[in-house]
Amino acid sequence: MQQKVNVFKFGGASLRDAAAIRHVGEILQGYAGQAIVIVVSAMGKTTNALEEVAYAYWHGKPQEARRKLNVIHNQTTTIIDELFSEVPEELTAAVNDLFVSVEWALDEAPNEEYDFDYDQIVSLGELLSSHIVAGYLNRIGLSSSWLDARDVIQTDNTYREGWVKWPETTERAERLLPPLLAQTPFVVTQGFIGNTSENYTTTLGREGSDYSAAVFSYCLDAEAMSIWKDVPGVLTADPRIFENVTKIDRLSYKEAIEMTYYGAKVIHPKTIKPLQNKSIPLYVRSFIEPELEGTYVSDDAGDTYPPMVAVEREQALINISTRDFSFVAEHHIKQLFEHITTTRLQVNMMQNTAISFNVVVNDIDDRVERFCALVDREFKTTVDRNLELITVRHYTAEVVESMRRGKMNLLEGRLPLTLQMVVKDVPVVRRKE
Ligand code: ADP
Ligand code: ASP
Ligand code: MG
Repeated sequence: MQQKVNVFKFGGASLRDAAAIRHVGEILQGYAGQAIVIVVSAMGKTTNALEEVAYAYWHGKPQEARRKLNVIHNQTTTIIDELFSEVPEELTAAVNDLFVSVEWALDEAPNEEYDFDYDQIVSLGELLSSHIVAGYLNRIGLSSSWLDARDVIQTDNTYREGWVKWPETTERAERLLPPLLAQTPFVVTQGFIGNTSENYTTTLGREGSDYSAAVFSYCLDAEAMSIWKDVPGVLTADPRIFENVTKIDRLSYKEAIEMTYYGAKVIHPKTIKPLQNKSIPLYVRSFIEPELEGTYVSDDAGDTYPPMVAVEREQALINISTRDFSFVAEHHIKQLFEHITTTRLQVNMMQNTAISFNVVVNDIDDRVERFCALVDREFKTTVDRNLELITVRHYTAEVVESMRRGKMNLLEGRLPLTLQMVVKDVPVVRRKE
């Protein structure tokens, strides 16, 4: 490829309505003529709405699923009508085809595997947004091609958490992207979705569009990747939860991997590794104030950082002990891990004592119940729900103390740079006057 490619990723917040999409168009005007692969998420909260469609369909409520899909269809039509005085015919046809294909799927009986049906339905969000963005960019004179990310990103068939097959994906990216970029400088594609060898759609995990952009960046040896967010960059904590947060100007890949692994929601945790492997810099930038610098993630950042806090909500703490009062030994742990794998529990923290094993997991669907049922014969389990897992990197006594205020600490773990605690709110006891 002659010209170095950049990869931009625009998330749901930056595409939430017609005005937001116009604003993305304005940002991209500043890059006219440069080779850019533009990876887009579904608009606004479309993925959540599609999850509800999949859920209703799979739980025997096709009419409700149909109704919910119609709402999404109407919202999509409104955005399109606001964006275009005359809607391009190809766009109308593409959008209608996409909705018809999901409507047909809803008329069929559900598959045996929920996660499979989920992916076939929920992937609609990114397919729609990418057609709309590509159509809009062409309308404002920014020549763009539309690429089906499923022609490039190949995964195994772990639905809802597709594992990327790197050699196949790289071969396709190298073959398909250069001719498209030679035709138009911008190529618009979808985040979040991939394809199995049997040609079924997979998704890469919620919030996975950042990761898709990193996959494209890696495969194309991109010059840099930029993710455009509603925050000025990576901050010391989530501004939706904490006051007095500050922007981190430079981050090492290593620190970014640690932060996102521990739940800093600003970047999907799988994003950094592929970039690090090829030393591709990452810019986390504000789409609200695109002229600002954002956060620069690379090899050459210092290693002193302020305390940084990440909070994971909807956590469950499972305490597991043997029914025969024996120690939790290696063979027990092996067995427990097998069950963790089959029920796809996502473990965030583990700790064992002489007679118990504690795991802190994301409380998703009925996974905790299924796990407890599987281990029930041999182990006694107690589950504490609605917990928060607070992680402080580069912790200081003062920050840890402020995190503890008003919370009951159920489990704590410390490493030299990382402190984690599993907490619940202390119930407020009101005294009678
Ligand atoms: P996208 O639009 O790409 O999906 P997200 O909503 O997933 O963007 O990510 C941006 C959000 O991440 C911010 O609005 C912010 O509330 C949250 N966030 C959590 N932790 C951090 C952090 N450490 N720094 C910046 N933002 C954070
Ligand atoms: N649309 C998907 C989600 O909301 C993927 C993403 O936005 O990154 O999870
Ligand atoms: Mg997101």
